[in-house]
Amino acid sequence: MRNKIILTAILAAGVFIAKAQKPEDTEVWTPEPPVVTPGAICPAPPPSDAIVLFDGTNQDQWVTNKDRTQPADWIIKDGIWTVNKAGSGNIETKKSFTNYQLHVEWKVPASITGSGQARGNSGVFLASIGKGDAGYELQVLDSYKNKTYVNGMAGSIYKQFIPLANPTRPPGEWNVYDVVWTAPTFNTDGTLKTPARVTVIFNGVLVENNVELKGPTLYIGQPKYVAHGPSPIKLQAHGDKSEPLSYRNIWVRELP
Ligand code: MG
Repeated sequence: MRNKIILTAILAAGVFIAKAQKPEDTEVWTPEPPVVTPGAICPAPPPSDAIVLFDGTNQDQWVTNKDRTQPADWIIKDGIWTVNKAGSGNIETKKSFTNYQLHVEWKVPASITGSGQARGNSGVFLASIGKGDAGYELQVLDSYKNKTYVNGMAGSIYKQFIPLANPTRPPGEWNVYDVVWTAPTFNTDGTLKTPARVTVIFNGVLVENNVELKGPTLYIGQPKYVAHGPSPIKLQAHGDKSEPLSYRNIWVRELP
């Protein structure tokens, strides 16, 4: 009897330990994707049917994620758009999207400091499904000679898909994401019908090849789908102490 009680206590403790999840539980560190030196950037002005989300002159297409009645408050200077770390945080588009092609350019400052996840961290949430970091994050990070868990480096679908290669340009140079996003669909009872899918070309190099997401991207724990409809695109103001990074030339083409 006594042994049975002890065994029950041990099993209960085991369950408790298993449930106490940590961020490290979902980090993958090896193998590292091969480093690829990208070709030259070709200027990619928006095609005629694109919705221009940022053209260097204004942030009228954006609101704060904290309060969608408030205009975005990042900093525009000389045609480039810099994360406002002292401001209201993440920003997102006024408009909601379902399936689309997206073009985004980003650059970490040449004088960037910090390491790992605390070095030029931002993110493109391909669908923002709530406050803070709720959604599906395509990671933005200085991954040029900057080691971190590989499912959290630039070009990763955060903690779900490791990029196939690492074509990150050095700090001070522009990087380009071209993304094809297929939103998840849900049955009327809220269960998942078809998962989200994404293809990402990073500086002209394929890094995510039509991968099926496991759910929204999470810092801690395992992803799980929650039903949602058309969603804004969100940019992350990450809380690390490194110098803020910048964006330019953002456009989207809606797909059927
Ligand atoms: Mg991020």
